[in-house]
Amino acid sequence: MLDRRFHPVTLIAFTLLSMAANVSGATSVHSTAARWTVVIRPARLVNGTPVLFRVTTPRPVRTLSANWLGHEIAFSFDAIHKSWFALAGASLETKPGAYPIQLRAETFAGQSAGPPDGQAISFEKKIRVERQRYPRVQLKVAGRYTAPSPEDQRQIEQDRETKADAFKTLSPGREWKGSFALPVSAEISDVFGVERVFNGSVQSTHQGLDFRVPSGTPVAAANSGRVILARPLFFEGNCVVIDHGQGLLTLYFHLSKFSVKEGDDVSKGQPIGLSGGTGRATGPHLHLAVRWQGVYLNPQVLLKLNLP
Ligand SMILES: [Zn+2]
Repeated sequence: MLDRRFHPVTLIAFTLLSMAANVSGATSVHSTAARWTVVIRPARLVNGTPVLFRVTTPRPVRTLSANWLGHEIAFSFDAIHKSWFALAGASLETKPGAYPIQLRAETFAGQSAGPPDGQAISFEKKIRVERQRYPRVQLKVAGRYTAPSPEDQRQIEQDRETKADAFKTLSPGREWKGSFALPVSAEISDVFGVERVFNGSVQSTHQGLDFRVPSGTPVAAANSGRVILARPLFFEGNCVVIDHGQGLLTLYFHLSKFSVKEGDDVSKGQPIGLSGGTGRATGPHLHLAVRWQGVYLNPQVLLKLNLP
């Protein structure tokens, strides 16, 4: 890189870094050097979608993390592409706008061009989220799912606690590897984000992706991780939740049979159960949901992402 130091852009970057490094006692350098790059996939981001961030830093760094839309994001290094990557997402409720991703990195100690200790460097880039309009549909289900009895209500309340407990015990490290795979090979019967009105009265947003599969179809784990929930719930029916690490979960609803139990480690493609129509379902199908740090994201977009 030394032979390029007289290139004007590089020279500006070099000067800025030198100036910042001269500030006595400064632990953070806000680098405006052009050599930070932030690339997102999909390139057009809408509310309700996952996003893959790929970042290159102006100097080799030991760690990289970020804050975006109030979420803490930990990056992993991709040695093949020499860049850092992380999955994140924008909730359905995110208003259209430009939201800064605040990147923080720590350089390696003792780099010839830098100070003797590892140094904190940071960068900010605005990421645009555009508005996606989702359709609205009317659906009919058994009356108990829109007007639950007191006993059903107790069950619903208990399920809420069960899920909250499961969502608390997440693996901080990344367990997923590579692209996410389809859990079943079937036609899609309903997409993510649809505003549903059940029996003309109860409104609910469809926070997953439905596959038209008959009962008894094997369902596969979309990626590797750990089973944190495998039990019957009121609305979800027989439900499996896989923790892929870093706050990312996949959920599989309405199963007729479980092939895994809570605590099991699963690999991508491993059967986790058989499809069915248990819980609040209009008929047999598989509902796949993707949850990231408390936010439901469009599974179709995640399944299309080419991931390291
Ligand atoms: Zn569904």
